[in-house]
Amino acid sequence: MSTGSREAPRVVLLPGDGIGPEVAREARLALELLAPDVEIEERLLGAAAIRATGTPLPDETLEACRRATAVLKAPIGDPEFDAADVRPEQGMLRLRAELDAYANLRPAVQGDVDVLIVRELVGGLYFGARGVRDDGTVFDTCEYHPTQIERIVRRAFRLAQGRRGLLTSVDKANVLETSRLWRRVVDRIAPEFPGVRVEHMLVDNAAMQLATSPERFDVLVTENMFGDILSDLAAAVTGGLGLAPSASLADGGPGIFEPVHGSAPDIAGRGIANPSAMLRSTALLLEHGLGRVDAGRALARAVDAGLALAPTPDLGGAATTAELGAAIRGQLAVDGAPAPA
Ligand code: NAD
Repeated sequence: MSTGSREAPRVVLLPGDGIGPEVAREARLALELLAPDVEIEERLLGAAAIRATGTPLPDETLEACRRATAVLKAPIGDPEFDAADVRPEQGMLRLRAELDAYANLRPAVQGDVDVLIVRELVGGLYFGARGVRDDGTVFDTCEYHPTQIERIVRRAFRLAQGRRGLLTSVDKANVLETSRLWRRVVDRIAPEFPGVRVEHMLVDNAAMQLATSPERFDVLVTENMFGDILSDLAAAVTGGLGLAPSASLADGGPGIFEPVHGSAPDIAGRGIANPSAMLRSTALLLEHGLGRVDAGRALARAVDAGLALAPTPDLGGAATTAELGAAIRGQLAVDGAPAPA
């Protein structure tokens, strides 16, 4: 959370592309209801930004995000730019890197399953040296500095402390040098958090257990690529990617809150997109970005209740985006939305 100003918290809303503006509208209405003191500024990112300015992350958007308390991002992407040199996704990756949003939180909740996957987002295999050798061999390298591991592991310990107190650290320490370092760092930090029980688990075993007994997990922390794969698996066993939110947090600067799904160009403009993942991302923003835990949890509960009342066509229902949004806001009134902080 940005703490640099005593003014009203400021959220930058990036409506994005495709169904983005449709789900962003519902997020804005929910945020205005739950946190009326928060200033909301809309800025361009993605294909909409390329069309208006020639670049997917205009300087003006980046500066507004840097000054924000938190960033609420709808999906970006447009098939028109699939083969272009300048693509919408470049704006998203650059925004994450510029804000150093290194801690990706992916909650997966359903029934008795409540797992929080904490994925390192700006290191490892996706950011290491890569290339082609003269003989045609292609390579990608996985590197981690101890400080990169320390900051994500500490954050995961703190999150586990506020939950059920079990931290599962996932690696491949029987094979990889980076994983052995990861394990040493976790063991070194563990004594700082005596209330948290730590276990180490190999990634193949973690995948199997997430698929067969996901309720055994509380917080799971892992490196970039393992987290990428395991978080989609966890979403799949708890209702699918379509409803999954995410938060990407930095230290001392704004985090980025966004749905996992894309811009759904096949249904854009029809008013039938499911706004739940965007609203769950808004709930994470309230909780982790603005520190308004009660408001965030109230919104998450309202999304669950609203989904049962007014499902959109992707869930076999007939509600429009606006109808589901209104049903969710109606549930907030029933549930008793907490007073603004
Ligand atoms: P997608 O998630 O946009 O769509 C996959 C399928 O799920 C489609 O049939 C779509 O209609 C459906 N769907 C997705 N979200 C939905 C919602 N909220 N309500 C109802 N149905 C929904 O994935 P895709 O088709 O592979 O990608 C489309 C574009 O989105 C691409 O340009 C891609 O690069 C981009 N993308 C962006 C992000 C992001 O902004 N973080 C993430 C993934 C994909």
